[in-house]
Amino acid sequence: MSKIVMTTPLVEMDGDEMTRILWKMIKDELLLPFIDLKTEYYDLGLVHRNETDDQVTIDSAHATEKYKVAVKCATITPNAARVEEYNLKEMWKSPNGTIRAILDGTVFRAPIQVKGIDPCVRNWEKPITIARHAYGDVYKASEMKIPGPGKVELVYTAADGKEERVTVHDFKGAGVVQGMHNLTDSIESFARSCFTYALDTKQELWFATKDTISKKYDHTFKDIFQEIYDNEFKAKFEKAGITYFYTLIDDAVARVMKSRGGFIWACKNYDGDVMSDMLSSAFGSLAMMTSVLVSPKGYYEYEAAHGTVQRHYYKYLNHEETSTNPVATIFAWTGALRKRGELDSLPELMQFADKLEKATIDTIEGGRMTKDLALITSLENVTALNTEDFMKAIRETLEASL
Ligand code: NAP
Ligand code: MG
Repeated sequence: MSKIVMTTPLVEMDGDEMTRILWKMIKDELLLPFIDLKTEYYDLGLVHRNETDDQVTIDSAHATEKYKVAVKCATITPNAARVEEYNLKEMWKSPNGTIRAILDGTVFRAPIQVKGIDPCVRNWEKPITIARHAYGDVYKASEMKIPGPGKVELVYTAADGKEERVTVHDFKGAGVVQGMHNLTDSIESFARSCFTYALDTKQELWFATKDTISKKYDHTFKDIFQEIYDNEFKAKFEKAGITYFYTLIDDAVARVMKSRGGFIWACKNYDGDVMSDMLSSAFGSLAMMTSVLVSPKGYYEYEAAHGTVQRHYYKYLNHEETSTNPVATIFAWTGALRKRGELDSLPELMQFADKLEKATIDTIEGGRMTKDLALITSLENVTALNTEDFMKAIRETLEASL
């Protein structure tokens, strides 16, 4: 059988610990035998980030601007313990943070659904994709404790010196106060990423804020979304047969619970922080959650939502058997390959991505899975496989389907 040809490289960002082990296995077992894989390789493993003073992370983000599609392995975000463990020159920043700052995107997270791993919410038949605005609000707020009586005001001093003030509160006793902000540019980017990704995946887009109470702050979010929708996306949405739906955040939460899924839920920063944890646990497993960074300029970076699975890696180093779930990392590759195929008009590459995803799901639904899934599945007679055997089982299913 001849291998599938690629024309433009993917940006490949390798990573750390157990996911780095999975990364190589996925390439060797599931990709290289079938595809003439073209990638531009960046090693974001912590050792190499340290050697290059983290320049490699910056270079990989710029390569993504050049080639438009990247696939990323989970990476360690250093803390004090890691600085010691890896003898680091510095406590390097989170690679995801660095990459997002360069590409200016929004992260979309979606669960991979399989029979036998059923969401807690019975009526969620299709995945719910959540998009979190990753700038500002309470995460960049200034706060003060107010010790006693006195007036708190917001003061805006324009560049020309003119002042505008509003009273926050006339305190009669002690209390607390908080000032937060957001930026028109950032909200616009967020909106464009959301509309772009909805079109891309042909899913409805929901957005919600508390604009009835917050008549300037939240209302601005609502207005920016509506304006960008009307001016840039409405016609495209109508053509694709999808809708944009705005509602109040409390109404959205109630509707999400009663929905069948199958839409994108765009959230302000805090709502997204809270709701993404609720959704991922309700859908079953962090190991079955994919993540894609979509920039408003149309760059895509695919990855798994989980970390480097450190505990399993130490077992692996000790030559103990591991059963680490590679599904989200496999879907990061298939997401990237499908997008590459779409941009380069390579239907064979897109079909391969579909087949690999189907082989992965069929293997699990056929009763062969890793331990984390075996523990929670409602299927009977399942076999819990170790990391390597699960990978081989997927390869078997894939080969049978080709
Ligand atoms: P983690 O790697 O997500 O793993 C936490 C636990 O979740 C694991 O110990 C394991 O539970 C379970 N788990 C996660 N993924 C799994 C998989 N694929 N298969 C089976 N079980 C899985 O989080 P962490 O251990 O807190 O973080 C480790 C490192 O990852 C940290 O250095 C952190 O900085 C980094 N991180 C990176 C990213 C990223 O690059 N996007 C995201 C998050 C964290 P059991 O141990 O019970 O089996
Ligand atoms: Mg959270």
